[in-house]
Amino acid sequence: AANGALALDTYRLSKRFGDFTALDNVSLYVEPGSVHALLGENGAGKSTLVKCVAGFQRAEEGSILIDGREQDIANPVVARALGIGMVYQHFTLAPGMTVAENLLLAGGRTPALIDWKRQRAELEDFLATTPFRLDLDRHPSALAAGEKQKLELLKQLYLKPRLLILDEPTSVLTPQEADEVLGHVRAFARSGLCTVLIITHKFREVMAYADNVTVLRRGKAVHHCRVDQTDPSRLAAAMMGEGEAPP
Ligand code: ADP
Ligand code: MG
Repeated sequence: AANGALALDTYRLSKRFGDFTALDNVSLYVEPGSVHALLGENGAGKSTLVKCVAGFQRAEEGSILIDGREQDIANPVVARALGIGMVYQHFTLAPGMTVAENLLLAGGRTPALIDWKRQRAELEDFLATTPFRLDLDRHPSALAAGEKQKLELLKQLYLKPRLLILDEPTSVLTPQEADEVLGHVRAFARSGLCTVLIITHKFREVMAYADNVTVLRRGKAVHHCRVDQTDPSRLAAAMMGEGEAPP
């Protein structure tokens, strides 16, 4: 549907850095409107996979399908136009600008003196649709890590993404802040407006907030399942390759 949650397929995606294979024939299906977790140890290829979907990396082989249609996501602008938004593992805030200006900039808009009152009222209205309370006039340098992370998420939510990708969004958050952020993200998916693909190391977050999970190990998608049909020990075994012959 227009303006609704997108389906994502990757089909046999492979990506090499020199001789090193970061992604090896990765196929995965992310259901529209679901919260889909990507789990894997450090270096498993999680960030590389989502960067391919968001247009920051290009796979040498395989394809990416959005709502069943193959797309050549050559750069982040193409991803953006398709409705794909991504929150990075590291902060990308403009320190010399206020929270309000960071949001406007993310939306591709210039803070305009003449329009300021209207723009500000719009931003207040937008913030009111989220559970996050941030002072629009502060600078990111004055924000605590958890507030910075919320601003990164708000920058993407402001763009009304149809597929929202989050790369370890809770790594700098307290468990309470993580619950607040993930609860909101899940509610957003439940509204049918958005699909969420989230990278996390934390089993608790997968079990509490995701519908489906894919485990990556050394560049391969080794395990797919519904969260209500698994448990942390099975996920850990898939992550670490327990019960298999060593390579
Ligand atoms: P994860 O997010 O699961 O921790 P990454 O996708 O960041 O893993 O990285 C997977 C592997 O690919 C790692 O071994 C990493 O060192 C390597 N890698 C990632 N990006 C690059 C790059 N730009 N150049 C060379 N190697 C890279
Ligand atoms: Mg990573």
